[in-house]
Amino acid sequence: LLDSTEGNGFKGHSMLAPFTAGWHSTDLEPLIIERSEGSYVYDSKGNKYLDTLAGLWCTALGGSEPRLVKAATDQLNKLPFYHSFWNSTAKPPLDLAEELISMFTAKEMGKVLFTNSGSEANDSQVKLVWYYNNALGRPNKKKIIAQSQAYHGSTLISASLSGLPAMHLKFDLPAPFVLHTDCPHYWRFGLPGEAEEEFATRLADNLENLILKEGPETVAAFIAEPVIGAGGVIPPPKTYFEKIQAVLQKYDVLFIADEVITGFGRLGTMFGSDLYNIKPDLVSLAKALSSAYVPIGATLVSPEISDVVHSQSNKIGFFAHGFTYSGHPVSCAVALEALKIYRERNIPAHVKQISPRFQEGIKAFAGSSIIGETRGVGLLLATEFANNKSPNDPFPVEWGVAQIFGAECKKRGMLVKVVGDEIAMSPPLIMSQREVDGLVSIYGEALKATEERVAE
Ligand code: PLP
Repeated sequence: LLDSTEGNGFKGHSMLAPFTAGWHSTDLEPLIIERSEGSYVYDSKGNKYLDTLAGLWCTALGGSEPRLVKAATDQLNKLPFYHSFWNSTAKPPLDLAEELISMFTAKEMGKVLFTNSGSEANDSQVKLVWYYNNALGRPNKKKIIAQSQAYHGSTLISASLSGLPAMHLKFDLPAPFVLHTDCPHYWRFGLPGEAEEEFATRLADNLENLILKEGPETVAAFIAEPVIGAGGVIPPPKTYFEKIQAVLQKYDVLFIADEVITGFGRLGTMFGSDLYNIKPDLVSLAKALSSAYVPIGATLVSPEISDVVHSQSNKIGFFAHGFTYSGHPVSCAVALEALKIYRERNIPAHVKQISPRFQEGIKAFAGSSIIGETRGVGLLLATEFANNKSPNDPFPVEWGVAQIFGAECKKRGMLVKVVGDEIAMSPPLIMSQREVDGLVSIYGEALKATEERVAE
């Protein structure tokens, strides 16, 4: 990886860039961010940007929360590390597990397993589900169904679960026990004349047919994000989760909710499961869990599953899984403080209050002739550029319309995520109304400039 100046490397730097596709790619000067303050970041040249992606959908409390820094420093001074294996642990992971279980109320959770990332949380889910079915004497109930277009991580298993072709190509993925079902994107995949609820019914029927084709005795779990995030910000069509959950219950298939982006207020409720009445058996968390100040992920496990996993009496031996840094005391101390802040400041209520201004402000531009669709919930939103407002009529790739939009935003002091024909925003949850208004206004100016460039 050293001295890579082309391909995946940052030009002139010896670092390999993850996810190189897009306008932030190799042939551009890398943007080197040096410091952050609230919803803003500053680059090495002193330029200030409104960070509408909150880092990578994660710095929910913005870039300068002193309480999180203090929590980390205090813990570093007291006990920088102890493991959580066998019957030993530090105190912060115990407290954090209790706090998470009390916070997640969409369905009762029994235990928490800590990881370092969302990818590891999703990998752990698969092993938990397999172990559980093994312990129940049904080792063939192994297959996991995920959604096309969703993103669940980059490790071999979580990349398999991801439904983005780029995550599979050239990696011999997905793994054979992973299947994909429809992406619930009504604008793109709804049939002519098909109502949103009918679309949801068709998708649930397709899921049922897939389970029947594979054999329900071989299908262990279904994984979904309440709102697909990195795959394009795709809120579910009306009645989708209600219908999907009915199918899963019918065939004894577990539901894994990937709340890595939607957890901790992003949608205006503490968890996405609250908003869509999802009753998951397992939940993956990361990102805002620590407001991204330190790496940490978690899997929440329902009592039905954790009782089996925990039981000394099952005949298959212990659940041999864990990481050196599972329940790292510093990460857990920071996460505990972040959770305290979410509760004290009632961050979900704040998001509920400011998000109409954000959603309606941006959606007011959706009539633009270069916009196909603007979609989102809470403080999560994407705009997809398209010709003739059609999902089937993209602009020529070489026009780079979304890239132009991203560059126009950057010129005006705002960073957005650009991938393909889309731009996405997932700003810090602490944004003020004034900052939201500023964001909407820059979006409008950048859109106008992009329209002019496209018309040239
Ligand atoms: N799940 C979702 C929904 C994500 O958005 C992501 C990352 O963007 C992941 C899992 C993977 O998390 P991590 O990058 O921490 O491994």
